[in-house]
Amino acid sequence: MLSHLTRKVICLCMLLMFPVYAIAVELTGQLTQGSMIVGKTQPGTQVFLDDKPLKVSPEGNFVFGFGRDAELLHQLKWQEPNQTIQQQNIVLTQREYDVQRIEGLPPKMVTPDPAVTARIREDNRKVGAARKIDDDRNDFAMPFIWAAKGRISGVYGSQRVLNGQPKRPHFGVDVAGAIGTPVVAPADGIVTLWEPDMYYSGGTMLIDHGHGISSSFLHLSKSHVKQGQKVKQGELVAEIGNTGRVTGPHLDWRINWFKERLDPALLLPAQAE
Ligand SMILES: [Zn+2]
Repeated sequence: MLSHLTRKVICLCMLLMFPVYAIAVELTGQLTQGSMIVGKTQPGTQVFLDDKPLKVSPEGNFVFGFGRDAELLHQLKWQEPNQTIQQQNIVLTQREYDVQRIEGLPPKMVTPDPAVTARIREDNRKVGAARKIDDDRNDFAMPFIWAAKGRISGVYGSQRVLNGQPKRPHFGVDVAGAIGTPVVAPADGIVTLWEPDMYYSGGTMLIDHGHGISSSFLHLSKSHVKQGQKVKQGELVAEIGNTGRVTGPHLDWRINWFKERLDPALLLPAQAE
């Protein structure tokens, strides 16, 4: 049902047949909605996704991603120094998400509490600011590992429709685990946010992996690192908790490319070991 059942890395090599130079842009990732795509090119090359410039590191690394309901057709352009612009279409496969429809629920009248509303707005502002960071680090280019070990209790993209009203989709992968279960950095990065008590997400941590790619960890019970601290892949950064609005302890792990919400499960081997 979900395309991450067919999870594997597809490597596209777009080799252009020039008589003398071999000009290549190599993409790694799944060409589907919710996916992060890592690119490699010659240093000095300019790269554009749908005509918007992407940051290319001095090593030639770049990255981009597609949201849950991203359009399926995109265009990558690139230009090596003193060369003409090359282009290639990127065609994504459409995913099917787990949508649960529940009818006949009694209507619930909710009067938002202004204090809570203000707090949620402030939480969103902090998270939004951290996700906007465009750090030069290249940590996104390393293969990611699971941030926690445990049963997958929630998947990316799933959504409930209550009395015909679509609710906000779920954007993380949920790993169930007892309070205190270790959470490790899935790739190298820098801690850009640690807040022990956000309204919905409770103990909330963001780790920046560079070029707009960040991991968010929600509902944590404890942090082992400080905001501004650099972390290495596999390093203990936090512990699973049940903080914020949850029904049980779990890690909700999200990956963003700036505002685009990506599916962590697409980057990883099929199961947490
Ligand atoms: Zn979740």
